[in-house]
Amino acid sequence: MLPLTALFPPSPARRALLISLLASGCSGDAPALQGGWVGTHPERGHRLRGEPPRADGPFRKASVVIVGGGIAGLACARALTRRGMDDIALLDLEDAVGGNSRGHTLGGAPCPLGAHYLPVPGDQAREVSELLHDLGVARSHLGRTEWAERHLCHSPQERLFIDGAWQEGLLPPAETPALRAQYRRFAALVAEAQRDAGFAMPTRRAPWTAAHQALDSQNFAAWLDRAGLTDERLRWYLDYCCRDDFGASAAGVSAWAGLHYFASRHGFHAPGDDTAEREPVLTWPQGNGWLSERIAEPLRQRIHHGRSVLRVSEGKHGIELLTWDETAAAPERWQAQAVVMATPVFISARLLATPPDALRQAAARLSYAPWLTANLLLREPLLHRPGMPPAWDSVRYGTTALGYVDARHQSLDPGPKPPLLTAYFALPAAQRGELLRQSWQHWAKFVTDELAQTHPDLPAKLERIDLCRFGHAMSIPAPGVRGSDALAALNAAAGRIVYAHADLAGYSVFEEAYTAGALAAARLRL
Ligand SMILES: Cc1cc2nc3c(=O)[nH]c(=O)nc-3n(C[C@H](O)[C@H](O)[C@H](O)COP(=O)(O)OP(=O)(O)OC[C@H]3O[C@@H](n4cnc5c(N)ncnc54)[C@H](O)[C@@H]3O)c2cc1C
Repeated sequence: MLPLTALFPPSPARRALLISLLASGCSGDAPALQGGWVGTHPERGHRLRGEPPRADGPFRKASVVIVGGGIAGLACARALTRRGMDDIALLDLEDAVGGNSRGHTLGGAPCPLGAHYLPVPGDQAREVSELLHDLGVARSHLGRTEWAERHLCHSPQERLFIDGAWQEGLLPPAETPALRAQYRRFAALVAEAQRDAGFAMPTRRAPWTAAHQALDSQNFAAWLDRAGLTDERLRWYLDYCCRDDFGASAAGVSAWAGLHYFASRHGFHAPGDDTAEREPVLTWPQGNGWLSERIAEPLRQRIHHGRSVLRVSEGKHGIELLTWDETAAAPERWQAQAVVMATPVFISARLLATPPDALRQAAARLSYAPWLTANLLLREPLLHRPGMPPAWDSVRYGTTALGYVDARHQSLDPGPKPPLLTAYFALPAAQRGELLRQSWQHWAKFVTDELAQTHPDLPAKLERIDLCRFGHAMSIPAPGVRGSDALAALNAAAGRIVYAHADLAGYSVFEEAYTAGALAAARLRL
């Protein structure tokens, strides 16, 4: 694919002029920036804070009700219908299912709202592999798995803006002997953890031993300090990885989580390590929305969106649910023989009239990172800066932002199109209130200020920014979370009420959510 900027290469003189105009704050006669909040309705989730309405309205029944239509809820519905269980209803408060893995459309083109990639699953992610085979993303050939080329992330994949230039890959270059030595030492410690303790994706497929418990009881930053891994560049990279997968820095997650990030997949490879294989990644223009749309498609008769569940209680004739129909602006009642709570743990604890102790304890232990994502439609391509050409994923060294992906990277449409970028920000919990209260304009400026650091010409070329806020985007695997008895009890709960959400792993990725949903179906007892 042609790099986007190569479509309209600016002359050096024009580039210098544009940069100086931007630096002086003059953006010419560009029309006003368009955009707004999209994707989530915080006021719907916040209905749980008020007094529930009187149990009234239409009465509906299903053998199984699944509360929450994220990846876990969808996986559970899929597993139940494949087992011949047809009388199910899946309720979600948003206007589309998929939860954090939904797509959006901007300028007529698909882009992600949240999750945007899935590393090619290993042997332990059996349920995910089975799904990908079914969707035609993978096929078995002569005893090997082959991946459909069009779904594998095209090259060039990643670049880092560091020391005034773009370089290939996200790992800061190992320019000093000291940094090279630290990279090698960290790689050796990850390999040792893989070999001696054992890690898996999903995490439930690895043993949980005293060694894991010890790693889970300390924070990753302190563990790195003790190992003498203090180089600023290595630490920035590890912080970036933790923020990207866990929504918190190395100081906020356990050493188990920090190691699991690498050890559950292909390890950590120091620069220059010839055995290093680039981990193949599956991605789509609308991100993992591609997957949630395809899982949802055969279930559409059973999906009810715009249904905010307010209360789940055990009644004489089954489990009763009070919901709010967002379209009708009226209450609705449901009755089921069994219920799957596929909502974040803190929400499940509020929904159940009598939450079990394990649910209460898990909810008290888990904390959540707020996230902001931004889809930016540009009028024209960005200017070149030195180094690597545009790649799928671009990150700036030194920032706490998570960079941006090119939403057109996987597009097979050959015509020139205006750029469409998706930028990611995991925010500290202290900014959750601000994320809710501050205007779209405030956050649009926050996003453009960050991206202008690597692309000074971006603000003048922006046509529209659609922002999506996730107040409680993902649970943080802080020390003590993954190994808690409360999470273990929720994972084992069987009966008429079971739990299914990525939170059950203590952190959130597709493999955890999907496996939690598929396995919850097997623990339901009608
Ligand atoms: C910005 C962002 C980027 C991410 N990027 C990636 C990525 O690239 N790759 C990856 O693997 N993972 C990524 N993740 C993690 C992602 O969360 C998981 O992959 C997965 O989508 C989680 O699914 P889930 O079903 O466990 O949870 P959720 O997505 O949280 O689903 C819960 C569902 O419950 C619904 N709900 C909540 N309350 C109620 C209620 N009261 N009534 C009815 N419905 C309710 C919600 O609307 C939602 O649909 C990302 C997450 C975020 C936020």
